[in-house]
Amino acid sequence: MNVAALSPVASSAQPAIDPAAGARGLYIGGQWVRPVGRPSIPVVDPSTEALLAEVPDATLDDARAAIDAAAAAAAGWRATPPRRRSEILRRCFELMTARAEDLARLISLENGKALRDARGEVAYAAEFFRWNAEEAVRISGDFALSPAGGNHIIVDYEPIGICVLITPWNFPAAMATRKIAPALAAGCTVVLKPASETPLTAYVLAALYEEAGVPPGVVNVLTTSTPGPVTAAMLADSRVRKLSFTGSTPVGRTLLAEAAKNVISCSMELGGNAPLIVFDDADIEVALEGAMLAKMRNAGEACTAANRIYVQSGLYERFAAELTVCMTALKVGPGAETTTDCGPMITAKAVDKIERLVDDALGRGARLRCGGERPTGRGFFYPPTVLADVPTDAAIGCEEIFGPVAALSRFESEDEAVALANASEYGLAAYVFTRDLARGLRVSRRIDTGMVGLNRGLVSDPAAPFGGTKQSGLGREGGAHGVLEFLEAKYIATTL
Ligand code: NAD
Repeated sequence: MNVAALSPVASSAQPAIDPAAGARGLYIGGQWVRPVGRPSIPVVDPSTEALLAEVPDATLDDARAAIDAAAAAAAGWRATPPRRRSEILRRCFELMTARAEDLARLISLENGKALRDARGEVAYAAEFFRWNAEEAVRISGDFALSPAGGNHIIVDYEPIGICVLITPWNFPAAMATRKIAPALAAGCTVVLKPASETPLTAYVLAALYEEAGVPPGVVNVLTTSTPGPVTAAMLADSRVRKLSFTGSTPVGRTLLAEAAKNVISCSMELGGNAPLIVFDDADIEVALEGAMLAKMRNAGEACTAANRIYVQSGLYERFAAELTVCMTALKVGPGAETTTDCGPMITAKAVDKIERLVDDALGRGARLRCGGERPTGRGFFYPPTVLADVPTDAAIGCEEIFGPVAALSRFESEDEAVALANASEYGLAAYVFTRDLARGLRVSRRIDTGMVGLNRGLVSDPAAPFGGTKQSGLGREGGAHGVLEFLEAKYIATTL
């Protein structure tokens, strides 16, 4: 089934992909299922609050149908030779790359992110297909003589089975491909439930996978306004063996409890509260560039976003002043406009939260360097904001801001910086800036997070293991680790 509205070449300012192309129905068993007589879910452009499309609202019966479809396709996909699976994944990469501009515009439209960020996301998202196309033909087992010499140990890696994948709205393409590509490389079939705020990209990509040769039922996509019961029903189905979730820590906790009932394998990519540490000896240009990237990629709506910026006292005033200049220079506007640096937030509720965190910090003595005032008018905008001298008891230090607010505090010693960085229930990413490589590596190892950017404001890389410690999650996505999350080790003991 081709999507006529998808054109291979990007051109005008208007998205070549009609947003409604992603709203043709639930995608189950290779069919577009449009339930009649049921309410649907509105998808809103966060830049204008205009209605973009309406997508179907899946029920428990739809969820069962999706699992049925994934189950029906499982044996065939598992038996598909790795080389063939690899070629299909490679084709997904090629199609995504050929349509990158159109996909970026669609992401920008439904998510609000600046077009530059959306382009970056498409490249990142497509790369998971290229990487996993290469992984699909490199899944190998082990064969060894047991230490006692009496038997042989054979270890085979098998697809784990049917997978339920749940993704957030902040990276509508990449969070889905980061799961789908390794799952398919491993030989698994999947049901994807994207976030209701940004479902259009997921549906458009489903059509693209089909065009690339992914057989019916291997990838199924459904949207629902009742994710709790719908997910619980899928996890209660004994055919489901894997839950891979990306989203907030509170929802992750709920899903872990739900998955425990059937002892389902879980990969959890959860919330973050990244510290960014700048030592006195840092190259200030490198640190500023890194801080702007770590803070402002996706307008701060990233799990890896620098939530707390700690600057050593010798550099503090200069860094705060120069960061304020950089933040003030950013152009706020609709995501899909090419001149926009900082698009809107996803919802009015998201802006409410940012406003609450900023007010709380100011009420506790933080100083406002720029921004801080919510604009009137349509769209869910919040300006780039710098808060200096944020006290440790401010809520902004322990909650995800998920917005364009840089919260700066001062520190004196290396030990103090490490203690501040580790004073969080989260452990996803951290950033360290120093010219002293020995110190950089030492501090990186002392910080309890899954990832550290050392003199870099970006850690995401399809070839690297992405994931967190503490309450930021379980498991890793990307790199050689990504595909392992979808494989089960089968050990055969034999005497030859
Ligand atoms: P969220 O937890 O509210 O929602 C994530 C997904 O879970 C959505 O699809 C949502 O519909 C679904 N969901 C919500 N309640 C559910 C339930 N009871 N049962 C099943 N599914 C349910 O998160 P969000 O607001 O969409 O995304 C932002 C969060 O995601 C932030 O905390 C961010 O840090 C995190 N995130 C983490 C990573 C990572 O890789 N660690 C990446 C991106 C985002």
